[in-house]
Amino acid sequence: MTPDRSLAERLVDGDRRALARAITLVENEDPEGYEVVREIYPRTGRAAVFGFTGPPGVGKSTLIGALTKARRAQGRQVAVLSVDPSSPFTHGAVLGDRIRLSEHFLDPGVFIRSMANRGALGGLSEAALQAALLMDAAGRDDVFVETVGVGQAEVDVIDHADTVVLVLMPGSGDSIQALKAGIMEIPDVIVVNKADHPLTDTMVREIRGVLSLAPQRGWRVPIIKTEAARATGIDELVARLDEHRAHIEAEGTLSERRRRNLRNEVLALAAARLRRRLEDELREDEEFARLLDEVVARRLDPASAATTLLERTTADA
Ligand code: GDP
Repeated sequence: MTPDRSLAERLVDGDRRALARAITLVENEDPEGYEVVREIYPRTGRAAVFGFTGPPGVGKSTLIGALTKARRAQGRQVAVLSVDPSSPFTHGAVLGDRIRLSEHFLDPGVFIRSMANRGALGGLSEAALQAALLMDAAGRDDVFVETVGVGQAEVDVIDHADTVVLVLMPGSGDSIQALKAGIMEIPDVIVVNKADHPLTDTMVREIRGVLSLAPQRGWRVPIIKTEAARATGIDELVARLDEHRAHIEAEGTLSERRRRNLRNEVLALAAARLRRRLEDELREDEEFARLLDEVVARRLDPASAATTLLERTTADA
């Protein structure tokens, strides 16, 4: 190996260490990381990106472990990205994955990475999106993105998946309520894991009830019963995931979806930069400090202050 090959080149060649390094760079918001993403971006879009969401403890990691095994048996290269916005420590997340995905750690065909809360506004989703791009460019056929929690704005990385899988278990009543109330978007595939539980069929019926109220799209959302810990139902899940992919490819929904997601990403990045720029500009701004004093003294409401602020900054621009 020639020593002067760039990180991006090594990553594209499938060098796992280069991939790990590049992810660390984007995670640290290092400009070198963005440079790598810029370089590899034209080579992305080939991986099938699957997002898994659902409450903690339903068995997402176990399920992804079983799926990974099935995909490896098909000869596919897999990457797993586990995003946990509730954990302040990356190491906690890593430890969790170690236990459940440990059987894949020595397989060079499986790349596993965890990301935890970054604190910075939009930082986690952004870093996760970039990490998924890097995994895609590194030649992974399947990228499994796992996020904890349901309906949390901070994990909107899940919306960027080509196929969104909601994982529940018997008794996940809150999630059914969230679906019903429209807080959570209807996913593409629903898994009821821990099907060894006696209330499984009740749960499936409840979900069917909620789905029947949702507006019908071209795709009929399958509800799959699995027992991830014993790898039961995984073949059916694999079949449904492939079916969904074939469906969105055939219908043109995949490109529509990706266009919508990329639009959101560009807007999110632009908005984050605007906010940063505004904060930088206002840090030492006396006029703004006076405006804020008025708000604090209850003489001016926050919305009117924002209007004044924007009028001034756009007039400046
Ligand atoms: P996550 O938090 O959603 O990622 O859930 P985990 O994958 O960590 O699983 C939580 C717990 O549920 C673990 O102790 C698993 O061993 C267990 N578990 C996973 N799948 C099944 C299953 O099909 N049946 C039962 N009874 N337990 C399971």
